[in-house]
Amino acid sequence: MPEIHPRRVKIGGRYWTLTTANIPGYDGLVENDSRTAHKHIWINRKLKGKALLGALLHELLHIIEPRWSEASVLELEADLVKILWDLGYRSADLGDED
Ligand SMILES: [Zn+2]
Repeated sequence: MPEIHPRRVKIGGRYWTLTTANIPGYDGLVENDSRTAHKHIWINRKLKGKALLGALLHELLHIIEPRWSEASVLELEADLVKILWDLGYRSADLGDED
């Protein structure tokens, strides 16, 4: 299964921990407790290919603009996945060969 080992990523001047995890029922989750400095992006480790790219972009979009509706985020996610996939973006490290 694809694995993103925990890594620190910077989004809009704030740092998050990004990692894959077993999160049945979810493609991704964002933990953003304003009472603590702990910020975490979890991506379902069962995802690969377009689904993995989509989940990553989806959670990043939620972080970039928390006020966007789920429908707006889903639409932007689909648009971005199509553009990037058509341009040939793949993650060789995560087993995307197609
Ligand atoms: Zn969402």
